[in-house]
Amino acid sequence: MSSNYVRFWGVRGSYPAPFSTHMRIGGNTPCVEVRLGSRVLIFDAGTGVIPLGNELVKQSDIHEVNIILTHYHWDHISGLPFFVPAFMPGWKVHIFGPGDEPADLESRLAAQMKAPYFPVETETWLADVSYHTPHPVPAQIGELSVSSFILHHPGITYGYRLEVNGKTIVYAPDNELSFIDRSIEKRKAEFDQDEQTLLNDMKQEDKSRNIEFMTDVHMLIHDAQYTVDDYARKHGWGHSCFIDTVNSAMDAGVKHLFLFSHEPTYDDEQIEAMHRQTQELIHERGSSMVCHVSREGMLIDLED
Ligand SMILES: [Zn+2]
Repeated sequence: MSSNYVRFWGVRGSYPAPFSTHMRIGGNTPCVEVRLGSRVLIFDAGTGVIPLGNELVKQSDIHEVNIILTHYHWDHISGLPFFVPAFMPGWKVHIFGPGDEPADLESRLAAQMKAPYFPVETETWLADVSYHTPHPVPAQIGELSVSSFILHHPGITYGYRLEVNGKTIVYAPDNELSFIDRSIEKRKAEFDQDEQTLLNDMKQEDKSRNIEFMTDVHMLIHDAQYTVDDYARKHGWGHSCFIDTVNSAMDAGVKHLFLFSHEPTYDDEQIEAMHRQTQELIHERGSSMVCHVSREGMLIDLED
């Protein structure tokens, strides 16, 4: 294993799922570490960031981390109050996330740690914590540029893109791919001919915009929360049907797709069955894309 890798610490969407039937995939909520030598990037701070923090404080060469948040739904920030490096003197913690100015991030994160919801406030963090807005100007982390784009998800939610050794990595954990498409479809009967043409153009535009952020990406970590049946019931909730994710990724020329943000009510067998379906779909379309199920603890070497 080289010193450049991606490690999955939390892959579950919505809420933690620490059930014995879910352990092959894992129960922690979103957290993905991108390690480039001694530089540490952490995408989202769901409960997966807790074991990551415990691991980082054991490593004597690391005293600085970059936490890059997509949005502030609980499942993406609830590990932060238990992130040990933030409580350690001598550490630097840079936090990036949606907001008009850095103070917005600070107040949103402080709010979840105020009494009576939590006994220890952010004032007790002993690390040097700084806040940064990564949009529209990309976040500059050393020599790395991390750019953001807006996802289809309730509230302002960013996806992120970075280049490592000439390979593009995109992290888009909560994103509904067919949102406009299907909401238009439902109301189609109400529209006259001109409106239908306009809406069809909009659909096309939206589809190409959806695919744009994935185009020729080496490693795409993307929402694949629902089965077809569940998506029919949960349309508009801000998550994708895994079939849409796989088809969009193939259309966009993605090399490695990582199904992510697994529905917490699905056990290992259900998610593995969804994965088998993706293999059939990829085979049917004659695509060379490799589709993986994100699993807790999974390690991807970026030098391979
Ligand atoms: Zn969310």
